[in-house]
Amino acid sequence: MILKNNSDLIIASNNKNKIREIREIFVDVFTNIYSLFDKNIDIEIEETGITFEENAIIKADTISKLTGMYALADDSGLEVYALGGAPGVYSARYAGEPCSDDLNNQLLLKNMQNINDRRARFTSSVVICAPDGEIISSYGHVEGEIKHELIGSEGFGYDPLFYSFELGETFGAASNKMKNEVSHRARALHNLAKKINKDND
Ligand code: IMP
Repeated sequence: MILKNNSDLIIASNNKNKIREIREIFVDVFTNIYSLFDKNIDIEIEETGITFEENAIIKADTISKLTGMYALADDSGLEVYALGGAPGVYSARYAGEPCSDDLNNQLLLKNMQNINDRRARFTSSVVICAPDGEIISSYGHVEGEIKHELIGSEGFGYDPLFYSFELGETFGAASNKMKNEVSHRARALHNLAKKINKDND
């Protein structure tokens, strides 16, 4: 069990936006929060899992064993219901490698050309692995639908195609602040922080 204010955390990511968001949410939970950069760790971890959670655990477990610290990792992607959940865990490399947001979006539009049910969701799995093998895991989702064309130039990945029901616009047209209020990742992170806080009650 994670004891509040008694542990250090390392975030298994190099993405500055993610690191900032995670620091904000977990500031009251961990004493010190480090990035891979802070610890001079330069490592390429192969994501061989077939679920978001498996991939998040692979990343967090590797970094936890390497550092002897609690390690947090996330894995996320877009799931289109009419495509059986694709692109799912393959979201980043949907159109092949090297990864290209533009080619991924074009392929998604092509594969949905004759599909009327355009409902989709973003899913995020966030886990913390402890050096002794303990795992705490949580999910977050945001529901929406895939537009017929790209709208907006904010964000990354599938943001210009993803129309959020809650925001009433695509993530590509929404400000970063608005997106973070409903995003799958923010929800997964808050759920995880809640679980840790509850354990400490
Ligand atoms: P990651 O797990 O954050 O590396 O995301 C994997 C892939 O899922 C990204 O390369 C994007 O294609 C897609 N994705 C995940 N989250 C988002 C998001 O918030 N907006 C747009 N695309 C996303």
